[in-house]
Amino acid sequence: MGYQFKFRPYQRRFLRSLTTNHGKWDIREGIILRLTDESGKVGWGEIAPISWFGSETLEQALDFCRQLPGEITDEIIFSIPDELPACQFGFESAQEWGETRLIASVLGSEFFSMPNAPCPMPYAQSFSGLLPAGEAALNQWETLWQQGYRTFKWKIGVYAIAHELKIFESLIHTLPASSKLRLDANGGLSYEEANLWLWTCDNLKENGEIALEIEFIEQPLPVEQFQQMLELSMSYETAIALDESVATLAQLAACYQKGWRGIFVIKPGIVGSPSRLREFCQQHQIDTVFSSVFETAIARLAALQLAAELSRNNRAVGFGIDHFFEQEETWLQSLWNDL
Ligand code: MG
Repeated sequence: MGYQFKFRPYQRRFLRSLTTNHGKWDIREGIILRLTDESGKVGWGEIAPISWFGSETLEQALDFCRQLPGEITDEIIFSIPDELPACQFGFESAQEWGETRLIASVLGSEFFSMPNAPCPMPYAQSFSGLLPAGEAALNQWETLWQQGYRTFKWKIGVYAIAHELKIFESLIHTLPASSKLRLDANGGLSYEEANLWLWTCDNLKENGEIALEIEFIEQPLPVEQFQQMLELSMSYETAIALDESVATLAQLAACYQKGWRGIFVIKPGIVGSPSRLREFCQQHQIDTVFSSVFETAIARLAALQLAAELSRNNRAVGFGIDHFFEQEETWLQSLWNDL
């Protein structure tokens, strides 16, 4: 199959800058692409790299797009090198767009236009809402709760551990009993700190002190410290999810081979080829959590379709990010008209 190919870079500013252990992030940059097949059917795709997370840079993705001819084939799409995982995702999902839209219509059309508004109630329950780091979380959760979120994610490893443990203490006693909490360290803890967090979570559970569930701690240690994380996952009750360690499909397969049977956070936007991801997940039946890379509705739709196909254990997906951008629908509309 052959397609006419067009692309356009974009930039969007976060409503407030995003703070993680990797630093501050103010502007999301990516590429929207459009494939038109021989029958005139249009497919949209999005390349939304996060180079500090293990994908190609925006510049590398742009170079790849620029060197392509105006007409491309399935053969080109399915032979994009593994060094360009965000491109693999963008092109393959554009190629699959027809199916994506089909799923979207099954889920309801409001799903597609969702980004403009707070997440509609029935869907919010399957989404995890991202709380800001530090004390700000204490003021933010209630708004998310009112929007229907029941799973929350809070960034740790941003401030001193003693300070964060104090906030954590307040947070777990403030959050409603039926909520779930995920802690995401972005690889920012030391081995001792990771032990202290896991011990604290195990203890809370054993003492029956809190009713809410601490679902898991995400990426407690840096990527290089895989063996330590494997050991921690066997020493504590509280589950550990790998995120940065499994940014791409190759890394994911390597961690599985080295014995990881905990949770895998999958960011479809940068993990690589959706078709090969499907194959891997179906073959190994891994425990997955699907998560956003702060993409627009285009990549989000493709990513959510993968999540719907491949999620197990009823875990909320990490796409509860709508409050970080404004007026996406208008913004996307003008971009589309432009292309
Ligand atoms: Mg994470």
